Order: sequence, then structure tokens, then C-alpha cells
Amino acid sequence: MIRGIGASEGISIGKVFKYDHIEVIAEKNEVEDTALEIERFQKGLTESIVDLTGIKDYAEENINAETAAIFEAHIEILKDPEFANQVKEVILSEGINGEYGLEKVTHQFVSMFENMDNEYFRERAADIKDVSRRVLMHMKGIKSHDLSEINSEVILAARDLTPSDTAQLNRKWVKGFITDIGGRTSHSAIMARTLEIPAVVGTMTGFDSLEDGEIVILDGMQGIIIQNPDESVLADYQEKIKELEALKTIRAAYIDKPSVTADGLHIEIGANIGSPEDLDGVLSYGAECIGLYRTEFLYMGKKTFPTEDEQFEAYKKVLEGMKDKPVVVRTLDIGGDKELDYMTMEKELNPFLGNRAIRLCLSRKDLFLTQLKALLRASVYGNLHIMFPMIATLDELREAKQMIQVAKEELQKKATYEEFEFSYKIGIMVEIPSTAIMASAFAKEVDFFSIGTNDLIQYTFAADRMNENVSYLYQPFNPAILKLVKMVIEAAHAEGKWVGMCGEMAGEPLALPLLIGLGLDEYSMSAPGILRARQQAETIDSNKARDIAQQALELTSQEDVLALIGGITW
Ligand code: PEP
Ligand code: MG
Repeated sequence: MIRGIGASEGISIGKVFKYDHIEVIAEKNEVEDTALEIERFQKGLTESIVDLTGIKDYAEENINAETAAIFEAHIEILKDPEFANQVKEVILSEGINGEYGLEKVTHQFVSMFENMDNEYFRERAADIKDVSRRVLMHMKGIKSHDLSEINSEVILAARDLTPSDTAQLNRKWVKGFITDIGGRTSHSAIMARTLEIPAVVGTMTGFDSLEDGEIVILDGMQGIIIQNPDESVLADYQEKIKELEALKTIRAAYIDKPSVTADGLHIEIGANIGSPEDLDGVLSYGAECIGLYRTEFLYMGKKTFPTEDEQFEAYKKVLEGMKDKPVVVRTLDIGGDKELDYMTMEKELNPFLGNRAIRLCLSRKDLFLTQLKALLRASVYGNLHIMFPMIATLDELREAKQMIQVAKEELQKKATYEEFEFSYKIGIMVEIPSTAIMASAFAKEVDFFSIGTNDLIQYTFAADRMNENVSYLYQPFNPAILKLVKMVIEAAHAEGKWVGMCGEMAGEPLALPLLIGLGLDEYSMSAPGILRARQQAETIDSNKARDIAQQALELTSQEDVLALIGGITW
């Protein structure tokens, strides 16, 4: 049995598909038969075009036109005679092997594109690297493992999955995933919950003990993977799968109900989303709002930055889809574990403490303005709440707000938007202790707060949320966190502002009574958790919850708090 961290509920039984980033190296060899090398190169080229055409067709039918266009562009590079002819010339003139000829010309093209002034061309460099790697793999007879190429049901196993890897997963085929790295709040785990793919992360060395093609049971609740299950274990798990299905049916009764406690206190239960495609899930689980739209996923799995129009369309779709219900759109939160293939970011020793989120946006105002303009244009289609991530100081907040003004003025210079009434609310994520401590000052300058416990916990305990060795310090129930949450809520309420929570703690069943007791107004979680939370809220008396929260604040450790709430019957 392999043990890890249960990161996304559910059970899957299926075949393992191992996904590893392979290092492909083109060694230099001098050769006699250059004609043979040219033929080998040509063959690799043709096979790659066949591959890519298949992927493009598949993407057109099963993913979307945008993804298909990426592969179309890759095909065009391979069909470009200038590229292929140069490779052949180098093989001939230098008497070298095909792989090295390809590598050399690729390098020349990549540096030429990378040095161009035009951003579009600079970004083409990544495409060339990508397709050249594919040709090289064909020439060396290495089978490519491309996540978007998975077309049968599998349980994916990887040493690590980046958020952009996860963004490519097709839930029709990927029935579960297992990674060596990561914790409950790493972004791949969060996405797995949204996609409703059972997942176990942080298995440390699990990848090496798994065999490609073997049958396993993945239990995303207990965080275990059972290899070679015998008949009786399989039968037990089939039974558990049935029970989970039955539970879903019971909870379906809560879809159209409001979220209220046993004594009639109304709370708002919403969903966290990463893309407009998540809307179906949100609506089918009866979310009362979208408490967090992580817009960075719009920037991932692409070859260039999304344009203002593309962003506008995405935001408009979400706002319209939610009718007039609140939609909290978080501005770009890139950096930390979230990178963009096409954006060169300086290597930092501590990326989670570095130039991420609002810091990056304030240093790349061009990117920020494009997003803000798209948001303002979309604001007329629904109930928009703009939220800034990782705010640490009032100056940052003021500068970010000023950027909204600039975006507005730039739009209003155009005749089309002259008369537009942009209407929106402005809020911040409280995920840095300095901001929680200064919440009273911030509350005067925003319309709302949303507590990002994933980061707030990592920064309070100085424990990297991606590092499984310090995952014991992910302590949402530690009184240190409860006190910060309380401070934020009291500061906001004193100014008549509301407070939400969009970190993973908001969806923890054990946390719900404490958060109700602390007076939290809005709870935003992966959509599949909404009905469970609504069902649970109905059992909680808010006055009793307040007493218990008060007792919890006086304790000194997470264990004590868990013991306190574990002993209560509602
Ligand atoms: C958080 O930090 O709690 C949060 C919701 O933001 P993210 O997980 O995207 O960093
Ligand atoms: Mg965060």
C-alpha cells in the first residue's frame, strides 16, 4: 500500500498510467552517410506531423478550438520549408547526425525569436522548442507522453503535476491522480477537487513503486493507493463507491435550498472556480455565489497571454451564467507554484515569498491593465467583485485601486465605452499575516475581505504549502489561525463589510461550526463540497457555535481544538 495525503474525495479503481518528464538529449556524432541522416530527420518530421494532426483533431472534438489551434500552429512550424531545409543543410555541410542537426537549427531559431522585439514572435520560441522535442523523440524512438493525448480511462501517476499539466487533464479519461509531491492545498490538489477527480498527493516515493498498467484502488479520502487488490478488497471498495453515490442522491435535495443554520442564521455558500467551464458544476450544486474565480488558469495551457477580448469573453460568461449572484474575480495570481510557459520569470530562491500575485501585477502594469479593462467591460453583465491577491500593505492596495481608475479612464477615451456605467465592488484576499493584523485599516478602504487560509497558514507557520516534509504545520485549527480569522471578521464587521473565506479551510466539515461561531459571512469551496456544507449547516446552532469558538480561542494547540470540536454533538 502506498500512503499519501488524500487530496480529492472519491474512489477510483483503474489502470496506472505513469507520466514522467523525460530528458531528451541530442548527442553530436560525425557521420559518413548524411543522406541516411536526412532521411531519418524527414521521417521524424513526418511522424510528428501525423501525431500532431491526430491530437489537433482530438482537441477539436473533445477539448476546444483554442487548444486545437495550438497544435495547428505546431504543424505549421514542421511544414515550414525554411526550418526543415536548414536542418538538412547543416547535416550535409557539417557531416553530423540528424538529431544534432535538428538541435543546432532549433537553437538558432529559438535565440532569433527570443531576441525579437515583438512579443508574439518571442513567444513562438517556446513552440519551436516543443515541436523540435517531439521530432527528436521520434528520431530516438522515445514514446512521447502527452497528457492531452490520454484517450483511455487511467489513474495518472506522476512525480509532480504542475497546475498547467492539471489544466490539460480530461476528466473523461483521467479517473484519478497520484503525485509524489504536494499537499492538500497545492494547486493541483485544489484543481482535482474542482474537477471531481479523486487524488492522492505527497506520496514521496510512490511513483517508483507503481508499475505502468497495473490495477490499483485510489482512495482519495484516506489518502491511500492499494496495489494488486484481491477480490474481497475490490468488493469492499465497490460497496464504498455505491455508498458515495447514495450520499450524492441524498444531498441533491439541498440544491435549491438556502444555506441556513439550525436557528435560521443565513450564511452564503459559494464555489471556487478556475475557468468558465466550471460553471456547470457550480450551478448544478446550487452555489449562492462564486467566492473565488482564480483567473490565472485562463493564462495557463496557452502559448501567449490571453488578450483583453478573450478575457472579457471569459469573465462575461461567468457573470452572465451566475445571473445577479455575486462573482468574486481574483486578479492574476501567478508566481509561487504557478508559472506560465511563455513568460520568463526570474529564478527566485523562495518563489512563494517572491514576486507573485499583486506584486507581479504592479511590476507588470501592462498585464494588469489588460486584465482590469477586460473586467470593467464585463462588469455590466453581472454582479462583479474584483479581488486583489496577496495584499501585504495599504500602499499596494491603493496602487492597485489606482490601476482600476487608469483602466477606466483608458476605456472611457474610446467612444464605445464613453457612456458605460462600470459597477463593481473591490476587495482583497487576506492571506498575509500583516494584512490580518492591520485588518481594521484595510476594512475602511475595501468593500469586502476573503480569507485565503492556504497562504495565510503557510505564512503564519512559515511552512511551504508544497513541501510534504512540513505538512504537519498546515494547522487550520491552531488557535493562532482562529485568532487571525476572528480579528479579520471583527474588523470588517465594525466597518459594515462582509468577510468570506476561499481557502480550503472553508470547505472543511470540522471547521464549519467554528467559522459560523466566529461570524464568517461567506464560505467558498470546491463546488462538490457545497451540498455537504449546506446539509451540515442545518444541524448547527449559531449561538452554541459562538460559545465553542470562544472556548477554542482560549486553547493552545490544534490538537486541543480538534478534541473540543470532536466531542460536540450538534
Ligand atoms: C489561499 O491562499 O487560500 C487561496 C485561496 O489562494 P490560492 O490557493 O490560489 O493561493
Ligand atoms: Mg493564495
